[in-house]
Amino acid sequence: MEQHTRCLIIGSGPAGYTSAIYAGRAGISPVLYEGMEPGGQLTTTTEIENYPGFENGIDANMLMASMKGQAARFGADIRSGRIARVDLSERPFTLEDEKGNIIKAETVIIATGAVAKYLGLPSEQKFKGLGVSACATCDGFFYRKKVVAVVGGGDTACEEATYLANLCSKVYMIVRRDVFRASKAMQERVAATSNIEVLWNCNTQEVLGDESGVTGVRILRKDGKVFDIKVDGFFLGIGHHPNSDLFREWVNTDENGYIITEGKTSRTNVEGVFAAGDVQDPDYRQAVTAAASGCRAALDVERFLNAHTSK
Ligand code: NDP
Repeated sequence: MEQHTRCLIIGSGPAGYTSAIYAGRAGISPVLYEGMEPGGQLTTTTEIENYPGFENGIDANMLMASMKGQAARFGADIRSGRIARVDLSERPFTLEDEKGNIIKAETVIIATGAVAKYLGLPSEQKFKGLGVSACATCDGFFYRKKVVAVVGGGDTACEEATYLANLCSKVYMIVRRDVFRASKAMQERVAATSNIEVLWNCNTQEVLGDESGVTGVRILRKDGKVFDIKVDGFFLGIGHHPNSDLFREWVNTDENGYIITEGKTSRTNVEGVFAAGDVQDPDYRQAVTAAASGCRAALDVERFLNAHTSK
């Protein structure tokens, strides 16, 4: 089956749904593919307390269900499943979903997000959402006056550790080498924070816990010593992977795979292809910033269609 759409949105996090809401309201009738993780990264967390408009916070899944409903109300054709193949060499672009349906799209909004890297330990998976988190800004608040650990030695880990140090009584950093990878400025900030203790040359052997959640971490030091630390939260800060692999043949990315957009716009180097949310944002990675960039992408699409196509 081959279909035609004026705008294909790939991804169903805050960026994808916001672009669908705006494009739908503009009469563009977008098609949106939800992708591998319907609702996006937010659905891996529980309560969202910093999304404006919800005085008492909101359950993450409820927030995403509500965004989906709002997009559907304005006529977005929301489909489960993912886009498997892409040809962005000429307009209309040709995309194929995993069931073999071909979609010819006048414009494409890439809102495929990013995934946090995890260590790959079974115990880490077991306590995901029960003390294991990859987002200090999202979940740090739940660990006020408690003890937490952050894994990693790059800018993300240092930023998470200093953020958490403002809330928590103590923050351990578990760093696998005897040096940080982070920038000098971030290293200095960590060094100047008295309640951060860096455990150098250390790897996480296991996240410890019980039915209440995380209770500690078993550490293996390079010299062979194994020891446990008591913590209430375990934060990953070992980087993110933007979901841009499918598009890299056509769309320019930076050295870490984030799609490069022009200035304040959502335009990529391919005319008619736009990017929104975490797939193009290594810095902010918040639901509200992703939603805002989804809005920009839909407005850019509207302008592009007005300038380039007959209605
Ligand atoms: P990085 O790749 O820079 O750092 C990852 C860190 O995690 C390294 O210390 C690495 O150790 C460690 N690590 C990786 N895998 C493992 C593992 N399996 N076990 C234990 N430790 C592990 O990623 P970041 O997310 O920190 O940064 C990505 C980019 O974004 C960088 O360019 C950074 O500068 C930028 N950034 C900038 C910020 C800012 O300016 N405010 C904030 C956040 C990110 P090792 O060093 O041994 O490889």
